[in-house]
Amino acid sequence: MNGLKTSKTEKLNRFWAAMFDIFGQKKTALFCFIGLLIPTLLLVIGVRIFVPDTVPNDDIDPSVLLEQSRETVISEVTGEALPKTEEKLKLAADKIAAGYDYDNALKLVEEFEAAYTDCDDHTAYKEKLNNDKALCVRYEDTTKVSHIFFHSLIADTSRAFDGDEDQDGYNLYMTTVDEFNAIMQQMYERGYVLVDIHSMIKTVTDENGNSVYTQGDIYLPAGKKPFVLSVDDVNYYKYMTDGDGDGYADAKSDGFANKLVIGDDGKVTNEYYEKDGTLVTGSYDVLPLLEDFIEKHPDFSYRGARGILAVTGFEGVFGYHTHPDWKSILTEDEYNNEVKQAKAVSEAIKAQGWTIACHSYAHFGYGSCNPYDLAADVQKWEDQVQPIVGDADVLIYPFGQDIAGAEDYEGQKYDTLKAAGYSIFCNVDASNDYWVQIHDGYMRQGRINLDGYRLYHTQSLISNLIDAATVIDKNRPLPVPSL
Ligand SMILES: [Zn+2]
Repeated sequence: MNGLKTSKTEKLNRFWAAMFDIFGQKKTALFCFIGLLIPTLLLVIGVRIFVPDTVPNDDIDPSVLLEQSRETVISEVTGEALPKTEEKLKLAADKIAAGYDYDNALKLVEEFEAAYTDCDDHTAYKEKLNNDKALCVRYEDTTKVSHIFFHSLIADTSRAFDGDEDQDGYNLYMTTVDEFNAIMQQMYERGYVLVDIHSMIKTVTDENGNSVYTQGDIYLPAGKKPFVLSVDDVNYYKYMTDGDGDGYADAKSDGFANKLVIGDDGKVTNEYYEKDGTLVTGSYDVLPLLEDFIEKHPDFSYRGARGILAVTGFEGVFGYHTHPDWKSILTEDEYNNEVKQAKAVSEAIKAQGWTIACHSYAHFGYGSCNPYDLAADVQKWEDQVQPIVGDADVLIYPFGQDIAGAEDYEGQKYDTLKAAGYSIFCNVDASNDYWVQIHDGYMRQGRINLDGYRLYHTQSLISNLIDAATVIDKNRPLPVPSL
């Protein structure tokens, strides 16, 4: 044994001596290093190639594998890819059902069953949806629907109520972000459900073969109360947003959002200057705040309903410099870009379910003006605003000033408005919980201003909607001035 060992050592010594002779010590060392490195590398690569096929499968959620194996099918209900797992299907169907749209929730489940035949049994789930649907009743009278409205909200009370000449106007006619959130919460707790103004009516054919309006069909659980919401002048006027008078929004503004923009997630949000000059995006006005609230409480919105944004034309729309005056201030590219962005925002607003309404072009009283001035103003809105925001069938009267009293519409002013495509007309009337007229060719609705004046001075008028005393912002200067 010893002899053998010596002989092996000698062989090894001779081998190394020969190697050093031929290549020298440095090269031999290098060869040895490479000789060790290559197998090590191969081993590492081998581990990386082969191990994922065996080990990580234990970590992958089986639902992910199932999802990968199922083909993408576009849902007719959502217009988007059908959920591929049971969990995601339930989430999507629950959300639709929360908005009282049980038929579409059921349809989504059936689409899923048709697309993925190896899916779970949904009998119990579908039975639950049908039971919930059976609890809904047709709202007995759509002329009994309240319509509340706001102006752009005060996001920073310290700047709005800073004692300057605008303070009293804001205190009378504006609502703060905190007040708005409190109003939504109280109305939600009292069973109010936001509906689309268009769902209050439907078109039927009368005995003479004419298309006429009649009461729409709204199916809600007993006790729930539909309401409509609108926002006036979502133009982010300079007096609110431009503190130094250069035509651009800045931090010296009165503490309002200055724009609607499309956020990183594709949803419409606000742009806003904080007091220190930081430009931020987020929920600072009605649209994104209401979206946030409905995200948390999907049963606050009937079948995807949202509110109405009513815009004028004399200072551009949604905070963009789209008024023709800006053509001489901006370069052609800059102006076109403003229009392009305003159009994109308008599309996104409507895609989220909101209605864009006309609030006149120049904001004067349509009741007191002559029919020619009304016609010219309507035409100006059609020429300058309609190309950006699209067709509008809702007219929100400036100052709430209607073209008639409670009597039926007739005459030149009505003919002009009808010819321009308007069929829903909203004035301001807070003397009742609701005021609605449904005629063959048009609907009228009174709106309730939930602003500083109303919250402070006439709390009993709105007591069915909210407890105004508990809503008023502690930073609002009191007393609110009288009118
Ligand atoms: Zn207005």
